[in-house]
Amino acid sequence: MERVYNFSSGPAALPQEVLAQAQEEMLNWQGCGMSVMEMSHRGKEFTGIAAQAESDLRELLQIPANYKVLFLQGGASSQFAMAPMNLLRGKQRADYVNTGQWSKKAIKEAQRYCTVNVAASSAADNFSSTPPQAQWRLDPQAAYVHYTPNETIGGVEFHWTPDTGRVPLVADMSSNILSRPVDVGRYGLIYAGAQKNIGPAGLTLVIVRDDLLGETLPGTPTLFDYKTHADNGSMYNTPPTYAMYIAGLVFKWLKHLGGIAEIEWRNIEKATRLYAAIDGSDFYHCSTAKSDRSRMNVPFALKDAALDEAFLKQAKASGLVQLKGHRSVGGMRASIYNAMPLSGVDALLEFMRAFEKTHG
Ligand SMILES: *Cc1c(COP(=O)(O)O)cnc(C)c1O
Repeated sequence: MERVYNFSSGPAALPQEVLAQAQEEMLNWQGCGMSVMEMSHRGKEFTGIAAQAESDLRELLQIPANYKVLFLQGGASSQFAMAPMNLLRGKQRADYVNTGQWSKKAIKEAQRYCTVNVAASSAADNFSSTPPQAQWRLDPQAAYVHYTPNETIGGVEFHWTPDTGRVPLVADMSSNILSRPVDVGRYGLIYAGAQKNIGPAGLTLVIVRDDLLGETLPGTPTLFDYKTHADNGSMYNTPPTYAMYIAGLVFKWLKHLGGIAEIEWRNIEKATRLYAAIDGSDFYHCSTAKSDRSRMNVPFALKDAALDEAFLKQAKASGLVQLKGHRSVGGMRASIYNAMPLSGVDALLEFMRAFEKTHG
């Protein structure tokens, strides 16, 4: 089988150039006689790979010097606990904004450690929009404000950055990190599982302002303390070395492409074409608010759900896979992260038009 266009929400498609380079370097990385997977994480080869990855990421996102970059494991889901454990810092309350399924999971986990004030929610419109900041009811006692800039399942994205004054802003950027510029200096903590827009599953990226470190909840495990990892360059224990290496190749790929400004332009183009085709037909439908639609995850429905199976089957036969919507939402979802080329979206549009013609 040829390589397909993979619209998976995660683990998601990686740039083909990155996979090809990894293949080339698989058995013998740059003449050292072994695979990156077989290297000591403390040897000079791997520490070089890690340092280069961090420096490329810092350059791409223009991360200020007073922020630590941590390469962790455990997925974004483990950050649902690590964020409160590290950022409550003696306080008992935190603000959370509820925009869908990932927000809800973050809230549920935080409730184990503190009193959660749901400062805003889009539950009333079935999580199809973001609540405007004017409606947020922030708690003056909150240690931090947590939100989910891109809800991977609902396909809702913040196209603006909340203003929380002096209270640290915390963002689960798992599904839109590196897809658009971000002013890191406005955040206390940014975290992301790697498997959507960074690299292979198994790596979790944390970007944290350094003054927030060092005051964890009593009983916090050593490995759940950001300071443990910050003080040890993410090498307190064995980090996910191969995933870090691939992430580093992805960062290089992004830099060669032209950086975040270039990838943002491409992402806007892909999303605009896809939403325009959906809106322009009576056969397909997308119910998220136009101003809050995700550039990364595009959920849509066919006018007759009885056609879903045929759509998915024929799409697959055309080399377009993983278009089935999340089980809680149904319908379709096209995830079009950084690694999805414009040609993949165009191929999907062509298929959708042809399917509509024969079934509409
Ligand atoms: C995928 C995802 C998660 C969960 O990530 P894991 O690495 O599986 O824990 C959390 N938040 C968002 C926004 C996601 O897209």
